[in-house]
Amino acid sequence: MNENLDTFEISQVQLHKACKLMGYDSHIYNALKEPEKFIEIKITMRMDNGETRTFKGFRSQFNSARGPMKGGIRWHPEENESLVKALSAWMTWKCACVDIPLGGAKGGIICNPKELSNAELEKLARNYVRKLSGDIGPNIDIPAPDVYTNPQIMAWMMDEYETIIGKHAPSVITGKPLELGGSAGRSNATAKGGTFCVREAAKDLSKDLKGATVAIQGYGNAGSYAARLLQDEFKCKIIAASDSQGGIYNENGFDANDAFEHKVKTSTVVGLEGTQKISNKELLELECDVLIPAALENVINKSNAANIKAKIIAELANGPTTPAADDILYNKDIIIIPDFLCNAGGVTVSYFEMVQGYYLHFWTEKEVFSSLDKIMTKAYRATVKKAEEHHTDNRMGAYMIAIERVVNAMKLRGWI
Ligand code: GLU
Repeated sequence: MNENLDTFEISQVQLHKACKLMGYDSHIYNALKEPEKFIEIKITMRMDNGETRTFKGFRSQFNSARGPMKGGIRWHPEENESLVKALSAWMTWKCACVDIPLGGAKGGIICNPKELSNAELEKLARNYVRKLSGDIGPNIDIPAPDVYTNPQIMAWMMDEYETIIGKHAPSVITGKPLELGGSAGRSNATAKGGTFCVREAAKDLSKDLKGATVAIQGYGNAGSYAARLLQDEFKCKIIAASDSQGGIYNENGFDANDAFEHKVKTSTVVGLEGTQKISNKELLELECDVLIPAALENVINKSNAANIKAKIIAELANGPTTPAADDILYNKDIIIIPDFLCNAGGVTVSYFEMVQGYYLHFWTEKEVFSSLDKIMTKAYRATVKKAEEHHTDNRMGAYMIAIERVVNAMKLRGWI
């Protein structure tokens, strides 16, 4: 398997394999493989120091057959067209896999938000919406946070959209602050949903999560919250964690909350008392029960898949495993909880946020998480069943469920 593919090509390789397993002909694959619409914009604005700068931005609207399109906005220096397209495809399969009535999209701006002032961040957010106001909307395409965007940025975007259309429309965006119609539990929803899947996978292995060892690559919002949940609610032992500056390890475990506080104070987990330093590469190859890639794409690939010793891989990141690595891991009987299932908790609670916004009636966190548990558990069970029926891995199981739903919607609409 060629490992030199870009992210969008990887997503197409996965889709092609799933279409073949479903017995779909090439017309169906061709109808599914590209975004319905890809928008590229340029934002020119005056910076605080008086200089003018131009930023490139994107919105990839992948598929709208099942409902308005949904997906976050990344602000990252390495944002690019291929990545946005791949992420918009995965959003489509994600919403279909957990069976929420939405299509998939993704957006981004090439920028380094860490170098921008608050005023510049607000200007960028408002400009992005001004350029895209005709292409987004509660019944068209609903953005949300992703890497380096947050509830404050969503608030500015919502305000700009409402100013343009001259009325309230909170469901144009999700991941909003609670005061502006956000949902309880939204900020922790991705990690929470992932832990429900880990619980189910452990059941399948007849493994008690109490004392189970966990290694987490990426200690951002999703990774660090997953660590704390697995430790505090499921009594797992967190033995390793990492971020862009390196990793920490203690075979007897360390406190996930201490690691979080250490990262807040020093901006890295490295240096936490009672731990030794390891590399990100070493972390992935540790002896552990649960490995959680919660950072970048393609970190589990042909070069290291054979060395992975975890029993369960819970993919909180999007696209952490290449197709070549998938085959190796399947042959090693490692249970993979594939990305667009494992991290679907975020968009599922975004969907709850839209529903609550329409009714102007808000749920408690307990209600949100209990509904989330039902959706995630059902999707996990269906995925495992489909994979077993077709003697394939869970990623293909999840793909088959998702594409069948999307194809059925396209057929009913008369598109194919
Ligand atoms: N950015 C998140 C994801 O990749 C959430 C998207 C949303 O809530 O629309 O799933």
